[in-house]
Amino acid sequence: MSTYQVIIIGGGAMGTSLLYHLAKAGWRDCLLVEKNDLTHGSTWHAAGLCTHFAHNPTIQELRATSVRLYRDILPEETGQSCGFHRSGAMRITRNPDRMDEFAHVAGLSEFTGYPLEIMSRERIAELYPLATLDGLLGGIYEIDDGHVDPTLATHAMAQVAQKNGAAIQRYNPVQAIRRENGTWIVESKNGTLRAKHIVNAAGTWGFEVGRMMGVNVPSVPVLHQYLVTDSIPAIVERMASGKGELPMIRDPEESWYVRQERDGFILGPYEKQAQVWSVDGVPPEFGAELMPPDLDRVEHNIEAAMARIPALGTSGVKTVINGPITFTPDANPLIGPAHGVENCWLLTGSSMGVMEGGGAGKFLAHWIVNGAPPMDALAVDPRRFGDWADRDYRVAKAIECFGLQFGVHYPFEERPAGRNIRVSPLHDHMLKRGAVMGFAHGTERPNWFADTPGERARESFRRNNWFAPVEREVEAASQRVALADLSVFSKFEVTGPETFAFLDALGANRPPKPGRIGLIHALTPAGGVASEFTVTMRDGRHAYLTSAAASEEIDLDLLTARASGFDVKISNRTRDLAIIGVMGPRSRELLSSLTPDALDLPWLSAKDVTVAGIAVLALRVSYIGELGWELHVARADAVALFEALEVAGKPFGVGFYGAYAANSMRLEKGYRGWGSDLTTERSPLETGLRAFVKPEGRKFIGRDAMLAKAEPWDMVLLEIETTDVDPFYSHTVFAEGRPIGVVTSGSHGHRTGKTLALAFMREPTVRHGLSVKILGRSRAAHILDEVPYDPQNLRLKS
Ligand SMILES: Cc1cc2nc3c(=O)[nH]c(=O)nc-3n(C[C@H](O)[C@H](O)[C@H](O)COP(=O)(O)OP(=O)(O)OC[C@H]3O[C@@H](n4cnc5c(N)ncnc54)[C@H](O)[C@@H]3O)c2cc1C
Repeated sequence: MSTYQVIIIGGGAMGTSLLYHLAKAGWRDCLLVEKNDLTHGSTWHAAGLCTHFAHNPTIQELRATSVRLYRDILPEETGQSCGFHRSGAMRITRNPDRMDEFAHVAGLSEFTGYPLEIMSRERIAELYPLATLDGLLGGIYEIDDGHVDPTLATHAMAQVAQKNGAAIQRYNPVQAIRRENGTWIVESKNGTLRAKHIVNAAGTWGFEVGRMMGVNVPSVPVLHQYLVTDSIPAIVERMASGKGELPMIRDPEESWYVRQERDGFILGPYEKQAQVWSVDGVPPEFGAELMPPDLDRVEHNIEAAMARIPALGTSGVKTVINGPITFTPDANPLIGPAHGVENCWLLTGSSMGVMEGGGAGKFLAHWIVNGAPPMDALAVDPRRFGDWADRDYRVAKAIECFGLQFGVHYPFEERPAGRNIRVSPLHDHMLKRGAVMGFAHGTERPNWFADTPGERARESFRRNNWFAPVEREVEAASQRVALADLSVFSKFEVTGPETFAFLDALGANRPPKPGRIGLIHALTPAGGVASEFTVTMRDGRHAYLTSAAASEEIDLDLLTARASGFDVKISNRTRDLAIIGVMGPRSRELLSSLTPDALDLPWLSAKDVTVAGIAVLALRVSYIGELGWELHVARADAVALFEALEVAGKPFGVGFYGAYAANSMRLEKGYRGWGSDLTTERSPLETGLRAFVKPEGRKFIGRDAMLAKAEPWDMVLLEIETTDVDPFYSHTVFAEGRPIGVVTSGSHGHRTGKTLALAFMREPTVRHGLSVKILGRSRAAHILDEVPYDPQNLRLKS
């Protein structure tokens, strides 16, 4: 039986790119198994569009890496072109919100270094004379975009991978996968194979191969078509006059893309009502075939495209390509470890697997080789979906994502499909009090409280209809007392004789003393922040940990992996317990009226108390910087506890606050948020968390790398001069016109009247003359050396 370090299942753009990058990293014993020939899944029929447009820096880097690979690196390595045409691309719009979105993405690109240009109507006319300008406001030009021949690129990657020692088995379907004594056993048509690591790169078949691995892969095949026209006279004329290829053009509002193909066009529409296909299992015998054309479905998109580019209508249709494309619930790919299964990786679910494939393979190769991703992985980590991402959810979201392929991605965007699948026990109570819900890792949680029940958030890049309600929530929490449903947090218990030793080895901080609460950051081997745990030490053999809602599976995997060798048990308590925050200067009075127990516990300590006759674990912590308690309670008791608190709170003017108010208040305290400010890219020292780093005389993963880091960045809290728009994320910070930092989170602070943002500075010595560009406009900014709200923590300790 042959044994490999890594077996990759699937020889499309994604899997082949991983093989190429592993081989280049020096891993010789890697095998790619393909049931057909290379590219014979979706890859061969892709239109080959490659872009740099992305809201998320990681996704943008995947795409930019693919372009570099196909355009420069592979042709140099093989001596052959991958058919990359640097045509450039543009997106045009009639929608003012879309212009904000373009300005936002262009702003991020100034930091990441990929040039994107905001276009006037005149510029559109100059670069795309075949388009009408009716109703257009402007657009964005992506000068380095292009299109590639996906088959040439995949074969080039395969060729170099094999030259570097990697193996490929074509026409060898994988039929079953199992794990035996810590090794993966892969049953294929041509025999049994063994591997340490196994990778699902099966694209359209990702769900089926996932089933073989015992992993729920939340991706759904959807049918997508593009049509290729015959020769277009206007293009023939253009080419004859020596003009270059037309840029690719997308109209996100009308939901189509067009690119020049020789002397004709390719037109790709994304209809609103997507057609999912083989949701419960793609037939294993399905291969490279296409579906029959179904142009009725996309007639309205075609008409809209022809109205914009009349030349499209001057010729007939040569071919229609109708094939499956996979969609995950958020349209981002699945790149990273599968939850709960060792050395089992996903590299699938991409709906743009050509433009993302080159970069995705590099990203995952780095992760497998180094034990951590090269950049923040939250947007692509498969564990952003839990077991709540069931069949109904993934189908509803795939249809929604396809229809919104070109949707505006607002900050704080909330989409309607797949909602209410997991709710807190307080859900109905919160709704009755005006809560406008947000989706947090499968669970509904209050974002803000509207004055009128049923009111919804008006999505915008600018200040919008929740600004004033959030101000009132903040007022309740800072002037009186306010309740919050914090149940979405992830919750774990660590028990056993070596609990203290385990926690001492877990991360950068020492564990707290029994009865006390501390913050521990578990690090990646490279010293970045992998997880942030609020640790309550119950006694020497028992600790209670909470962490971000979105990190439940990531943290459980980390705790489980790092518990190996310690006599401890890790239990996931996330769904057993609810949490009610009781925050504000009158919170002690309110709680005292409901408990016979003395509320004498100091800040950052915990106590078992009885509130309204209900046993709760009271943690004296506050993420919003007020006197307050988190009451951790059995789910079954949460409603009774909430009702008692609300009734007893009436004389104190009790209010409620949601996630947006919490975000505003935590920024006034400079508190970092996991997933936005705290990521694997930066160490806790770079994130300004020196107080929580105790490396002396201790050993923990990432310790030495963190301490040895050359050219560290630094996180700063900025006050920004702005009135009409608040920072959210990914705005570039400038000093004398130089992009030197990036905003990771921001909000208006209602208690201080300051608009605030946390930002990473890659030139930490520059402290003055700063500005932040938000939606295309520079706004003066200065670094706050002290947090603007209660810097002495007097309120917290009161
Ligand atoms: C009409 C259309 C146009 C598109 N245009 C673009 C575009 O312009 N740009 C872009 O980036 N993307 C585009 N896409 C999407 C793109 O085609 C896919 O995202 C991409 O090809 C996915 O690559 P992959 O490697 O993940 O999967 P695939 O190419 O599907 O490869 C998966 C491979 O796994 C193999 N496999 C499956 N099961 C097994 C098994 N049991 N054993 C062994 N092997 C197995 C399959 O045979 C297949 O070769 C388009 C898609 C469609 C349908």
